[in-house]
Amino acid sequence: MSARPNLIVLPGHADRPRPEVHFCGHCGRAPEIADIMPASRVCDRCGLGLLLTAPAEAAPSPADPFLLIDGTLSICAVSRLAEGLLHVTETEAVNRHVTDLLVPADAEASGPESLVNLVVHAARGEGETHDVVLRPADQFGIRFWARVGPCGPPRAALLVLADGRA
Ligand SMILES: [Zn+2]
Repeated sequence: MSARPNLIVLPGHADRPRPEVHFCGHCGRAPEIADIMPASRVCDRCGLGLLLTAPAEAAPSPADPFLLIDGTLSICAVSRLAEGLLHVTETEAVNRHVTDLLVPADAEASGPESLVNLVVHAARGEGETHDVVLRPADQFGIRFWARVGPCGPPRAALLVLADGRA
């Protein structure tokens, strides 16, 4: 046995291709037809959302509420489950500033600009998926664990919420 140095490949840091997954911007489910034709980007399950692509580690499961936010921090889409969680309809939320609805839970430690930075970077298609803790803008005592990552097309930040489990 030779004394080899212990070189370990850390998962997530190798040059492996990042798997991407498709999901509906409204119901969050994967398309039934794996082969998405550019002409039919509407979800074949709910018929309401457009199909989006995101890195596997950022994409929502069908049980995860999520929002899409563009590079100007305007909300572009609110999933069906996020409508229920945030008590807002997609129509009411679209084009509003994300911080009208959600702000960092610990504003002293990480001001609103930290959320803004993550969203702006993700909306450019840059960067990794980041975890953040948010709360509704008008309520204290509620926490949402969330992750922010890139998605598209068109390019947007994907903000996937978990409910307030401590
Ligand atoms: Zn759908």
